[in-house]
Amino acid sequence: MSDIPPAETPYWRFVEDSARSVLTSYGYREIRLPVIEKTELFRRSIGEVTDIVEKEMYTFADRNGDSLTLRPEATAGIVRAGIQSGLTHNQVQRLWCCGPMFRHERPQKGRYRQFHQIDVEAFGLPGAQIDAELILVLARLWRHLGIQNLSLQINSLGTRNAQALYREKLVEFLRARRHLLDDDSLRRLGTNPLRILDSKNPALGPLIDEAPKLIDHLDAPSMAHFATLQRILEESGVAFTINPRLVRGLDYYTRTVFEWVTDELGAQGAVCGGGRYDHLVEEIGGQPTPATGFAIGMERIMDLLKAQDRHPSTQTAHVYLLAVGAAATCRAHPLAERLRDDIPGLNLVVDADEGSIKRKFRQADRSGARVALILGEEEAASGRIGVKQLREAQPQEAVSDAELAGRLGELLGLANAGG
Ligand code: AMP
Repeated sequence: MSDIPPAETPYWRFVEDSARSVLTSYGYREIRLPVIEKTELFRRSIGEVTDIVEKEMYTFADRNGDSLTLRPEATAGIVRAGIQSGLTHNQVQRLWCCGPMFRHERPQKGRYRQFHQIDVEAFGLPGAQIDAELILVLARLWRHLGIQNLSLQINSLGTRNAQALYREKLVEFLRARRHLLDDDSLRRLGTNPLRILDSKNPALGPLIDEAPKLIDHLDAPSMAHFATLQRILEESGVAFTINPRLVRGLDYYTRTVFEWVTDELGAQGAVCGGGRYDHLVEEIGGQPTPATGFAIGMERIMDLLKAQDRHPSTQTAHVYLLAVGAAATCRAHPLAERLRDDIPGLNLVVDADEGSIKRKFRQADRSGARVALILGEEEAASGRIGVKQLREAQPQEAVSDAELAGRLGELLGLANAGG
């Protein structure tokens, strides 16, 4: 779990603000949820035999003895909230949320125990159009952020029926070659064989390549659904590859699944994953409701922004106001308040240090400010204010109260109302 120091927060704000503006422009509305839910919710939705539920959840008993879990992902909570509030009942809903998720993973670069996701879900729409829309939202977000070289992989897992028929074929194939499987895969053979397909063990690569593919066993409606998705993406100019091994780590997916990946982040190359989950709402106790969504891993987006030399502008102080002497010190705050009223967007720091004037100037310099305003004994007597450009070799000016906002606006290139 990491702290996010002030030098990092501009990246976070850049990503959050970009996501908010792109999502709003497509009609998605924000929802905010608790970070803790009943453990049962995640067991039922994510699936008993998944890495998350088997090994990674932060689960504890509260004072009533109820088993609660820090959310490892957001979809289950959104579905729970949607059912409870009636939001998803017979309605189309485009929703998003953003915040921390918790998984007790083995820490490594790109994998954290508290990480953050932007999570987007659409309810009430069964067609491939909305799956395509989600992908278009993402393509736009990457452009907005200036991120390049992400590639889109898509696959279809078909309906539950197709999955069950395929599972039998896969198990038959793998049983006949069980001597080639590792321990993890042997265990999954009896519980969740599809997950063997996205095993990270390179030794299993050739076997998996040879295994029957779900995509060759799709039922006709799933094939048509998948074809529509591909066609919309093609006509919208979004490049993709079909990855028949893409199954995703959670049990609830049917039909469309997708991932955006990069090769610029080492082993943890997936920056966003999602797909359709048409049965989950019903399984959690709601009316049958088609649904589809995705989650973006925010830390990986930050890493990618840095890897691609995309740095958001950081806002430092414009002006540092320093006062020397009791009378001037009392004048500093009212003056600062007036300037904040008069110059929209002004970033002004008022010195609160009790040290020498030299020390105050050092603080002014460290604040990053371009202009220092000086209220000394002399200025207190004359009613003028010293204006010193900190990043230019210009002599200090003495400006009257009335002219100050205008002069500052000029120096900083900010419009002002009071000048
Ligand atoms: P998932 O909810 O597992 O489908 O993950 C969606 C996205 O969240 C992934 O593509 C990653 O970018 C990100 N992610 C998942 N787990 C972690 C983690 N432990 N640390 C950082 N990012 C993660």
